[in-house]
Amino acid sequence: MTEHAVVIAGGGPTGLMMAGELALAGVDVAIVERRASQDLPGSRAGGLHSRTIEVLDQRGVADRFLSEGQVVQAAQFCGVRLDISDFPTRHPYSLGLWQKHIERILAGWVGELAVTFYRGREVTGFAQNETGVDVELSDGQRLRAEYLAGCDGGRSLVRKAAGIEFPGWDPTTSSLIAQVELAELPPEWGMRQDALGTHALGRVEYEIRDGKIIYADSGPVGVMVTERHIGPASEPTLRDLSEALIAVYGTDYGAHSPMSISRFTDMTRQAAAYRDRRVLLAGDAAHVHSPDGGQGLQIGVQDAVNVGWKLAQVVNGTSPESLLDTYHAERHPVGARLLRTTMAYVALRRPDPRTEALRDTIAELLMGDESRVRFAAMMSGLDIQYDLGEGHPLLGRRMPDLDLVTADGPLRVFTLLHDARPVLLNLGEPGGFDITPWADRVQLIDAKYVGTWELPAFGAVTAPTAVLIRPDGYVAWVGALPQPGLADALTTWFGPPSAA
Ligand SMILES: Cc1cc2nc3c(=O)[nH]c(=O)nc-3n(C[C@H](O)[C@H](O)[C@H](O)COP(=O)(O)OP(=O)(O)OC[C@H]3O[C@@H](n4cnc5c(N)ncnc54)[C@H](O)[C@@H]3O)c2cc1C
Repeated sequence: MTEHAVVIAGGGPTGLMMAGELALAGVDVAIVERRASQDLPGSRAGGLHSRTIEVLDQRGVADRFLSEGQVVQAAQFCGVRLDISDFPTRHPYSLGLWQKHIERILAGWVGELAVTFYRGREVTGFAQNETGVDVELSDGQRLRAEYLAGCDGGRSLVRKAAGIEFPGWDPTTSSLIAQVELAELPPEWGMRQDALGTHALGRVEYEIRDGKIIYADSGPVGVMVTERHIGPASEPTLRDLSEALIAVYGTDYGAHSPMSISRFTDMTRQAAAYRDRRVLLAGDAAHVHSPDGGQGLQIGVQDAVNVGWKLAQVVNGTSPESLLDTYHAERHPVGARLLRTTMAYVALRRPDPRTEALRDTIAELLMGDESRVRFAAMMSGLDIQYDLGEGHPLLGRRMPDLDLVTADGPLRVFTLLHDARPVLLNLGEPGGFDITPWADRVQLIDAKYVGTWELPAFGAVTAPTAVLIRPDGYVAWVGALPQPGLADALTTWFGPPSAA
């Protein structure tokens, strides 16, 4: 039986990101992916929001995405665009880039790291005991791993086989999304709202100029059409698409030669536990919701970045298994909040006059700067704060990408995170703390920073003298050196001190 420290079921955005995180920490990791290649038919996510771009920047790969996408103000709630150009981040925008490109670029990065791929195969079952997990693949091969990560999407086999409950709400609406050729062109591209809901037609290829979508002159057409009734779980056909188009537009525009047709709904569910002993869940495997607001890929990638370094430390023997409990504790509330937001979103786009009035009222509220900032920070993922106890406002929040000055020259904070290693950043007088017992894991950087400290949706904070930054970019401790609490924080997050 082939052995790996970690086997990841599913090589979508979440599985790829998690594999990258584990490989950076030197963990022997393998991805089992059903698709024979990374090609993704159809369109799903349309881009990246600010915090996801930051997370990729923390690993030094954001430019690969930025060079292929289009920078745009795309954070929105309830149809109201939430401009974040004044936010204190190096990336005060979203990036328009189809998921197929996001996955291709991510897979390119992961391919440069030591990750084994088993493509064109599925995980069909597993059995776990105290020492590991036996993973069965569809071609009869068996893998042995210390941990199995289910990043296998909303219908996750790993979640079901682990017996993890998936409570939530059944769908209230369903839509077909397709890429097809049209024999006849519609009078205009764009969105349409009617008694059934929202629909859209447009060329798959487009550019954003002055904030407006300019569709290409030729090429396949992307269709999104809300169905009259909630469709069955089976795969939709061209006939289903034609019928749905005729119900809305009075014609199917001669739709033919589909490249992809799929159905999505507003089913809203969340795994009751993100971990069962040696099995973890992340991404759509852990939470499903409507695509409104463009959040699923973001939260999946960020789940992966939250758990990756923790799992690596447990596998590498630096931290006890209990560190993994913080994954559920931190990410389940983030997922629960997203479920609530997307349910509100769906409720607010119902096409009846009273909901329309409510939508207009909410839109008016969002015009106020305070609510704009609050909702924009939520939709761009910049306001996340993990509950790490009382203290400085930075505690549990993302570390800003400050321009530091060090003895070796200028240095960005995010550059320090490229290898996914923790950082103790000392902005006070050098010395005062002996890092030696953790020096094999934690980088101590003496630096100066002249500038303001400002957090999105929070505002200015007092400049700390020292911060302990986790590999995922969140602040684990704030204080001044020397400080007794620091040794405890280092032990909690990065394991006990090494013997001299
Ligand atoms: C219409 C639509 C629009 C969307 N728009 C946005 C958006 O604008 N922004 C956004 O952030 N999100 C959006 N999303 C959501 C986003 O697409 C998902 O949240 C994201 O793909 C989740 O990534 P994942 O890796 O967790 O799961 P998936 O992308 O589903 O990947 C799971 C992978 O596991 C593989 N797999 C499944 N079962 C097995 C198995 N048993 N063994 C091996 N491999 C397996 C699959 O082949 C797949 O590659 C949208 C979704 C839809 C449907």
